[in-house]
Amino acid sequence: MTVDIEEIKLSEKLQKMYQEFLIYVEQENVEFERTESKKLELQLKEKIQWLKKYLVHLEKGGKRIQAGADYWVQHENHKLIIEYGEDGQGNIEQDILFLWCETCSDIVSSYIKKSDENKEFEKIKNHLGHEISPVREIQNSKKIYLTCNHCMKNSIILCNEISEWFNEI
Ligand SMILES: [Zn+2]
Ligand SMILES: [Zn+2]
Repeated sequence: MTVDIEEIKLSEKLQKMYQEFLIYVEQENVEFERTESKKLELQLKEKIQWLKKYLVHLEKGGKRIQAGADYWVQHENHKLIIEYGEDGQGNIEQDILFLWCETCSDIVSSYIKKSDENKEFEKIKNHLGHEISPVREIQNSKKIYLTCNHCMKNSIILCNEISEWFNEI
């Protein structure tokens, strides 16, 4: 059995970061609006809870989470939007696209335009600024679709398979 030490360390670090942020939100909730702070607390607790399960999975020699579908599924039925990336000065970066979750205020995936033909980037770019939802046809199905709520035609942008282990943890 090989254990992904690097990923475990990274996930533990991330979990610690969320825990510290949660403590801060709980103690300093004067800075946030009451309902906003409650919402944030719940989101952070959910993330910490998920990382806990993920760490158990990794310690048993489980596979690493994969970019794309494994991230989309964590934002199932949330309100997502496609935006251009920004550099440090806040200038638009036309070669980077972000799939941003408005429900969680979090980055779901990023797409970089490469010199060779990058079909995913082009497909995503066609729906710039549109509202996107990750959906599954059947509950717990392995296939997940990124669908555009704005376009009637070609509303399915991308389709990907969720990791085998994902629904089990
Ligand atoms: Zn989300
Ligand atoms: Zn669209």
